[in-house]
Amino acid sequence: PEHNLADFLKKSARQYPAHKALEFMGREMTYTQLYEATCRFANALHGLGIKKGDRVAIMLPNSPQAIISYYGSLMLGAIVVETNPLYTERELLHLLNDSGAELLVTLDILMKRIKKVQPDSPLKHVIVTSIKDYLPFPKNLLYPLKAKKDGLTTKVNYTQGIHPWSELLGHASSEEIQVTINPKEDLALLQYTSGTTGAAKGVMLTHYSLVANTIQARKWMYQTEDAKEIFLAALPFFHVYGMTTVMNLAMYTAGTLLLIPKFDIDLILKVIDKKKPTIFPGAPTMYISVINHPKIHQYDLSSINICISGSAPLPLEVQEKFEALTKGRLVEGYGLTEASPVTHANMLWEKRKLGSIGLPWPDTEAKVVDLETGQDIPLGEIGELAVKGPQLMKGYWNKEQATQDVLKDGWLLTGDIAKMDEEGFFYITDRKKDMIIAGGFNIYPREVEEVLFEHPKIQEGAVVGISDKYRGETVKAFIVLKQGERLTEEELDQWCRERLAAYKVPRIYEFREDLPKTMVGKVLKRKLIEEEEKKSL
Ligand code: ATP
Repeated sequence: PEHNLADFLKKSARQYPAHKALEFMGREMTYTQLYEATCRFANALHGLGIKKGDRVAIMLPNSPQAIISYYGSLMLGAIVVETNPLYTERELLHLLNDSGAELLVTLDILMKRIKKVQPDSPLKHVIVTSIKDYLPFPKNLLYPLKAKKDGLTTKVNYTQGIHPWSELLGHASSEEIQVTINPKEDLALLQYTSGTTGAAKGVMLTHYSLVANTIQARKWMYQTEDAKEIFLAALPFFHVYGMTTVMNLAMYTAGTLLLIPKFDIDLILKVIDKKKPTIFPGAPTMYISVINHPKIHQYDLSSINICISGSAPLPLEVQEKFEALTKGRLVEGYGLTEASPVTHANMLWEKRKLGSIGLPWPDTEAKVVDLETGQDIPLGEIGELAVKGPQLMKGYWNKEQATQDVLKDGWLLTGDIAKMDEEGFFYITDRKKDMIIAGGFNIYPREVEEVLFEHPKIQEGAVVGISDKYRGETVKAFIVLKQGERLTEEELDQWCRERLAAYKVPRIYEFREDLPKTMVGKVLKRKLIEEEEKKSL
């Protein structure tokens, strides 16, 4: 029944006005307060001349402002363009120009970068907020920070077109704004892919597709009641995974969000221990840092009941260790920006299969097709995963050809290589783009990475194909060892040879302190490959 995605917040504010919507570094807001601020934001945008269909960019960490500006823009019918606060000037400029964003909401400490790109961008207005807008810092053991001393705020020069958040909202009306939305047609979001494999493309998601994915998520965790769950909001909202499974799901179910502005494992463990979240959607790296924390047994994690891990494969060992700590369920799911994002997950309280991404979500169809021809293939064989459902994108922004390449007869070709078993469970083998072809053999990096991960001294590893005169491509492994461990290349080579066919064994190893990653903890293989290419020039 919801037409505008922002109706989630409106509905919860009506039904549970005094319920706690969020907690942010010691500050709390009820649904009524959050809704009122959102209406003010929408009115403020309206006052600046923003109208339905205009693009509004948001560059904020998880914070009350990130939620208010998101739903406020949607309420007005504007299209949200989320940007990562860590984007470089070049990346940011690409997004602003490609989307044609006229307004940007950001934090004071990011203004230096914005000032540099603004003259070359379509931006007419910048709304600047500060972490102080939603504090003042109370004396709080959980967040022993000083805004100025810890570099969390900075002074801004408010010239023309640059507006201070608190003043703007303070002067705006808190009346509701109603704009007619055609949910299947009108865009809510232009979400740029994380760009792990190439230049970022703008994925067009409608109100309908985002609402659908949230309702699908609600059906998936059916054993819950509204206004009961407490969400650990560690995944960033500017990525569609955290946006749907944390922010939108919490607003739809009148949950409480514990906002984590930056992934800091010590802070997260303290928040879990003291604030008792019940739901913790995350990425494998997050759960890995929890289980490997040296003082993990000092924290009580027993409140956590529901976890979904997506964005990259979840190693079995991590799942088992994490569940033993929490007594809840951690299940693997799968999705991609083009599908709002979730299409598959294991069931929480029923049959699940380790190593599988589970079953398609309610109202979602999935199949495996031939990598070359796109035709259906026999059960159990490996091919490309295709999905269909209400959560699919409309297409890529201004990229007709790229859209036609992946959207065919209502099916989305995911670019992921998968198989399905006789019970309908799906397994991701790898990404089409990551597959290495060495001497005519197909090598799936994920299989090699799993072997590396099983080594007791290895914290994580990433495997990529690099060009090779003789084999076309060859296998290179980047290794991060656990703290204080040592391992030689010879030992590693032997470990792999005992477990993998010879052609899959990495030919080159490189030990590193860490791996380049996206904000949701996915290894940026493109970066690793680029570094290799530079070296060989
Ligand atoms: P780009 O398209 O710009 O390269 P990206 O594909 O990383 O970026 P996302 O939409 O964030 O952008 O990620 C979706 C991809 O993440 C999927 O296509 C898949 O390869 C991977 N993925 C998600 N969940 C899982 C999972 N459970 N196991 C393995 N891979 C996963």
